[in-house]
Amino acid sequence: MATVAHKLSANDTIGIMGGGQLGRMLSMAAAKLGLRTVIFEPSEDCPAAQCANAHVSAPYDDADALRAFASQCQVVTFEFENVDLFAVDQIVDSVAVLPGRKALATSQDRLAEKRFLEEVGISTAEFWALDNPEQLRKALVEFGGVGIVKTRRFGYDGKGQVRVDPIDPASQDAASELVENSACILESVVDFDFEFSVIAARSCSGQFAVFDLPENRHEDGILRQSTVPSRLSPQQVGSAIAQARALLDALDYVGVAGVEFFACQDGSIVANEFAPRVHNSGHWTEAVCHVTQFEQHIRAIAGWPLGKIDRHSNCEMFNLIGDDVEKLDQLLGLEHAVLNLYGKQEVRPGRKMGHYTVLTPMVTV
Ligand code: AMP
Repeated sequence: MATVAHKLSANDTIGIMGGGQLGRMLSMAAAKLGLRTVIFEPSEDCPAAQCANAHVSAPYDDADALRAFASQCQVVTFEFENVDLFAVDQIVDSVAVLPGRKALATSQDRLAEKRFLEEVGISTAEFWALDNPEQLRKALVEFGGVGIVKTRRFGYDGKGQVRVDPIDPASQDAASELVENSACILESVVDFDFEFSVIAARSCSGQFAVFDLPENRHEDGILRQSTVPSRLSPQQVGSAIAQARALLDALDYVGVAGVEFFACQDGSIVANEFAPRVHNSGHWTEAVCHVTQFEQHIRAIAGWPLGKIDRHSNCEMFNLIGDDVEKLDQLLGLEHAVLNLYGKQEVRPGRKMGHYTVLTPMVTV
């Protein structure tokens, strides 16, 4: 059972740490439920602040600004997993911070995350902690020369990763350089058929709900497309949901989380990582579900019951990355699609600028 017991009232204020598109969509969901939001984010004119009631623009090490921010809020949440724990520690005694410090700390460190997943009984790729290139050399022998080196911290969208190929010395040099500069892990390469995720929610009272599982396609480590329904078998779905539930229960989690998995040819599933926040592979919920992942997160952290998550259509969600967003006329002309643009000023390669979801009918026989 969760230990948090609070319940927000109409017009109460939710603090959101982080000012990106996830904070923006959370703010809009909160407004729809009659709640207010204040964003804590150093940069001016961020996507979230454009849609919130207030914006505290200060660095994450400004303890006074953090405490002033917390004093305006009935609950605080975060929209990215690399929120400085120092910032959380400045406010956690004065306001509930959800989904919780443990979920945040665990997901910030790939080694702690992998170990925690193992503890909870969730299978992951084989992994090895690396503090120096000598350990990399030894670990690679165990792994037959093949593996993925990832920085333990601050990696996202495939950044801070090198795939080591035994016949490519440049990949070995790049991996050694990564390990020299930061603590890393080496993971075995999972020979997966496709990727999928579980977008799950847990409320303050321990109520659990999960959206239909999306199948995900990444390019260069960045999510490009999510499709619902997926090609998963009922057994894979059941197993993934049970694993996600075990994880959220073990973390005494409150809010929405995204757990990423690989689906393998032999029917097994392997967890990659989890994000203690709403997730890019759950954006389609805004187009086809009665309650979106953003509303579900707001409901959970507000101490409210979770919503019903039935889906009325099948769909495919496409991310708009970098200059994809410049085809505005084409995007505005899409049929049976829900378009969402994030209000970012500058287009950069690899930057998520928006997404759209194409609806397709659910076939009933
Ligand atoms: P990550 O930053 O861990 O989410 O990795 C980004 C992407 O790299 C994943 O979505 C996969 O497509 C791929 N990837 C990461 N780890 C592995 C692995 N151990 N085996 C195979 N592919 C992986």
